Amino acid sequence: MEKLNDFGKVYLIGAGPGDPGLLTLRAHAILEKADVVVYDRLVSPAILGMCNSKAKMVDVGKMPTHHKVKQSEINKLLVKFACEMPRATIARLKGGDPFVFGRGGEEALELVAAGVEFEVVPGVTSAIAVPAYAGIPVSHRGIATSFHIITGHEKEKSDVPPIAALQGDYHSGAEGDRIQCNLSLDFENLAKCQGTLIFLMGIANMDYIARRLIECGKDPKTPLAFIEKGTTPFQRTVMATLETAGETIVREQVTAPAITIMGGVVELGKTLAWKKNWPLSGKRLVVTRAAKQSSGITSRLTALGAEVIETPMIETRDVFPCCHAGLRSGISNSSENKVVEPVEFEDLKNFDILAFTSTNGVESFFKQLFAAGYDVRVLAGKKIASVGKITEKKLLEYGIRCDYVPEDHTGEGLGLLLQNVVHDEFRILLLQGNLADDTLLKLLPKATRWVVYETLPVAELPEWKREAVESADAVVFASTSAVENFVKMISNEKTRHSERSEEFSDSLDPSFEKLSQDDVVKKASCISFCIGRMTEASARKHGFETITSDETTMDSLVKKIVEYYTMGKNA
Ligand code: SAH
Repeated sequence: MEKLNDFGKVYLIGAGPGDPGLLTLRAHAILEKADVVVYDRLVSPAILGMCNSKAKMVDVGKMPTHHKVKQSEINKLLVKFACEMPRATIARLKGGDPFVFGRGGEEALELVAAGVEFEVVPGVTSAIAVPAYAGIPVSHRGIATSFHIITGHEKEKSDVPPIAALQGDYHSGAEGDRIQCNLSLDFENLAKCQGTLIFLMGIANMDYIARRLIECGKDPKTPLAFIEKGTTPFQRTVMATLETAGETIVREQVTAPAITIMGGVVELGKTLAWKKNWPLSGKRLVVTRAAKQSSGITSRLTALGAEVIETPMIETRDVFPCCHAGLRSGISNSSENKVVEPVEFEDLKNFDILAFTSTNGVESFFKQLFAAGYDVRVLAGKKIASVGKITEKKLLEYGIRCDYVPEDHTGEGLGLLLQNVVHDEFRILLLQGNLADDTLLKLLPKATRWVVYETLPVAELPEWKREAVESADAVVFASTSAVENFVKMISNEKTRHSERSEEFSDSLDPSFEKLSQDDVVKKASCISFCIGRMTEASARKHGFETITSDETTMDSLVKKIVEYYTMGKNA
C-alpha cells in the first residue's frame, strides 16, 4: 500500500453563505494554491474567482444540462483525484459549513476508508449568518435561549450512505405513516421547543411543516421570516407567521436557496435590518476587462450593490526564453555548466541595463527566473529602468530599485532618457509584451528585445462562470475588441454547450429551473454599458441595446449605470 502522503490531500472547505467577505482566511489560502476545486452550486462566482487560475474546476452541483452529480459519485471523485495526483491540494468547496447539512461527514468517511489524508476548514453557516444579515439574532436574552437548525428536506432512502444504512440512523421510520414529503421530523417535540427554529432546504415543504407544527400545538401567530439568497446582492427577506407561511411562499414567490426562521427573534429584524438596498442591489453585471484593470470598476460597482462577474477578454501568457530565438542570437556563449534549465537566463550577464515597460513584464520575468532556479542575485550590478511609477513599484516588490524612470512615464520618455544617460557600449535588454510597439527599439536600435509575455484573446469561458455570465443583467464594454471577443466567446459557448449536452445522462434534478440556451444568451447579450462611441457602435452592430457614458472615463460610466437602474423602468 502507498504511504499516506503520496496521495493528494483533500480539504473539506466551507465557502460561507455567499458574501465573499465571509470566506475564512484559511479557506482563501487553500483555494489560492489548489490544484483541483470540486465545488457545489451554492458557491458564489466571486469565491470561485479567487481560486488558483490554473486549478481544475469541477462542478458537481450543476452540470451543463442541469444534471447533478450523485453524492456517491462525488465521494469516488475525491478519492480518485487524491490517488491520481500525488501531493496535490484538492479543495472540496461547499456552501456554508461543510458539516452543517453539507454531507461533509460522508465525504470524510469515504476518504478515511480510502486512506486519504484530509482536513476540515469550517465555514460560516447560512443558518446563523443569513438571519444576521437580515438583522435577526438567532438568540436574544429574554426571547430565545436556544436555537435549532433543522433540515426541511431529506434525501431518498436509496441515497443513504452504506454506513448510515447499516447503523439504522437514517429514516428510522419511527413516525411511520406520518412521513410525508420525505420528512421524518419529530414535529411534536419541535412544536414544544421554545427556542428559535431555523429550517434549511425547507421552502418546498414549508406549507406542510407549518401545518404539522400548528397541529402539534405551536402558536399559529409565531413570527417567521424567509430569507432568500442571504448575504448576496440578491438578498430578500419576506415576513409571515406560521399560519400564513404556505400562502406567503406562493404569493411572494420565495425561491431557493432560502432559510426559514421562526420565533420571537424574527420581530427584531424589523428594527435591526441593517443591510441597505443599494442602487445596484440585485443586478448582475459582467465586466469584460482584464482582471488587473477591472478591479477599480469592480469594487465601485460592488460597493453600489451589484454582483460583478469579471470576465476578461484577454489573458497574458508567459513566453519562456527557450522559445525565444532573439535573445540567444548574437549573444556570446555561456561556458558555465548549469544543471537548471532553461539556461537562457545565463545570457542576462551579457546585459548592463534591463528595461521594463509593464507590470506584466516584471511579473512574467521574475516568475520565469524563479521557476528556472535562479534568484534576484543574477541582477547584481545591473542598472534597472522602468517606464513609469507603477512598474517601478512592482519592481520594488521584488526588492529591486530602479535607476532610471522617465518623468513623463512613456516609452518615448524612457528611450530618450536612456539615450542621454548611458554610454554607447552599454547593452540594453528590453523586457516587453508581444503587443508593445517599436518606440523603444527605434530610439535604442542596439537594444535587444525579449518578449516575456504574450497577450491573447480569451476563447472560452471557464465552466464555473458560464451560468453567471449568461444570466447577467448587462455587460460592460470598454473597447471594441472587448465587444468582438465577447460575442465570439458566447457563440463558442453555444457550440460547446450543444456538443456537451449529449454527454450527460445522469438523473435529472427537478429543483433546477430549465432555461433554453437561446434565452440565456439573449438575456446576457441584451444590455450593454459602453465607454466611447466606437465601442457603442460595435455593440449595436451585434444587437446589444447600448447605454454609453458621456465621457470616456470609468467614473462617467459608473454614473450612467446607476442612472439607468434608478430611473424607474429598469430598477
Ligand atoms: N452547509 C450549508 C447548508 C447546506 S444545505 C450551510 O452551512 O449553510 C442548503 C441550504 O442552505 C439551502 O437550501 C438554504 O436553506 C440554505 N442556504 C445556503 N446558503 C443560503 C443563502 N445564501 N441564503 C439563504 N439560504 C441559504
